[in-house]
Amino acid sequence: MKRLAKINENVCVCCGACQDACPRGAISTSSGRYAVVDTDSCVGCGLCARTCPTGCINLIERAGIAI
Ligand code: SF4
Ligand code: SF4
Repeated sequence: MKRLAKINENVCVCCGACQDACPRGAISTSSGRYAVVDTDSCVGCGLCARTCPTGCINLIERAGIAI
């Protein structure tokens, strides 16, 4: 099943590293408070999660079950 990046908004410091790392342009930090994933664009590659300095990105199954 396809995966999706899920950001813990309470831990995110809105540094933008994930936005820069995402090959799909699926992450926005325009809120200035936390990053937001465009669920339609995300392909679940995990690059953002590996880049995040606070470890607040998890990959979940599209069904919503953590892996
Ligand atoms: S890399 Fe992590 S802390 Fe930085 S904006 Fe993305 S989710 Fe937030
Ligand atoms: S999992 Fe991949 S496609 Fe999805 S937001 Fe992260 S870097 Fe972008």
